[in-house]
Amino acid sequence: MPYRRLDRFRRDYPQLAGYVQELEAVLERGSSDALEPALLAQQLGVDEGLALSLLMAFQDAGILAPRYDVYCPSDEFIASFPSLAEIPSRVYCPFDDLEHERDECTIQLVFVPLHSRDATQRTASTRS
Ligand SMILES: [Zn+2]
Repeated sequence: MPYRRLDRFRRDYPQLAGYVQELEAVLERGSSDALEPALLAQQLGVDEGLALSLLMAFQDAGILAPRYDVYCPSDEFIASFPSLAEIPSRVYCPFDDLEHERDECTIQLVFVPLHSRDATQRTASTRS
């Protein structure tokens, strides 16, 4: 089912309507809870810039929300934040039991469906 909230985008960018439809189909299948721009680009066979524009159009329509996932230098997921501004300069890592400098960490932008339970918050489960 097409999202009515994207009608304007579809009208403004008719050449992208096919990709909008494909992204809607991806969301409908609900197979991925977080969409990575690079992976979506591969999936749609477009460049990453276009994939990002599509994701942002869905964000503007209130369908997706951005999420910044922070990974430890040893590639463990630490935490996620709703915006870059909210990522502290030092992030506590439960895997190494210390704080990493934000600059040492890998920050991955993903987009999550807004109806998803943990759209903007996700934390690493601490080891027991
Ligand atoms: Zn760590």
